[in-house]
Amino acid sequence: MPATPAWPPRSAPRLFVEATLGPDVAVPLDGNGAHYLLSVMRVRDGDIVLLFDGQSGEWAAVAEQVRKRDLVLRCTQQTRPLETVPDFWLCAAPIRKGRIDLVAEKACELGVARLVPVLTERSVVDKVNLDRLRAHLVEAAEQCGRTALPDLADMVTLPALLESWPENRALFFADETGGLPMDQCFAANPGPAALLVGPEGGFTPAERDRIRALPQARPISLGPRILRAETAAIAATACWMAANGDWTRCETK
Ligand code: SAM
Repeated sequence: MPATPAWPPRSAPRLFVEATLGPDVAVPLDGNGAHYLLSVMRVRDGDIVLLFDGQSGEWAAVAEQVRKRDLVLRCTQQTRPLETVPDFWLCAAPIRKGRIDLVAEKACELGVARLVPVLTERSVVDKVNLDRLRAHLVEAAEQCGRTALPDLADMVTLPALLESWPENRALFFADETGGLPMDQCFAANPGPAALLVGPEGGFTPAERDRIRALPQARPISLGPRILRAETAAIAATACWMAANGDWTRCETK
């Protein structure tokens, strides 16, 4: 008995669209999205494309009116509901361009709900290109199967972040001068949670004192070696996800 082909086809391309999706909604597409589908993925009339808009889950759409540089994608049915990701924020000092892009991409794949660039005294980089970071979040979400993008906050200074810190949210402060072992700390504070990672130059002593003065702050150690900022952000986020995130609910594929 031949196996029934999977539906939607595993090879179906996935695309984030700004349109609001729903039954029979037609999404006209041109520009980069159309180029990707038509020239890279060789989509033709009648092919299935998976769309998500960050609000209404994932939809199977049929390609119609395919032309050289544009096409229409008509939603047929919802294939996955809007996901709920763990209530975990990654607050990271902006670091050099390629590295902050890597942090954004990995944060999305790991299931982070919100990414907050935090300007600290020793930040080498004092601005972030939010459009570029968002593009990395979109690309990562398309690849990893998320149906919602992480929120991307405007850059905030460390004092402003601490002044407006939510009362019910634990702030795991990756302190390279020492802190509690992660497993103890994470187990005692399952969430809502956030991780704060410093820049290449680390935190100043005054910043460290200010962070530790926050009642919600939980200084954590990431081991005996000094990690690069991006390594610290990615590794500690993965550990939290494994301990308290949705990795514990992962059904076998
Ligand atoms: N300039 C600092 C120094 O030499 O001590 C190193 C800063 S490190 C490159 C960047 C950030 O990663 C730190 O501010 C901290 O948030 C985090 N980090 C790196 N290694 C860590 C560790 N072993 N424990 C806790 N946090 C760490």
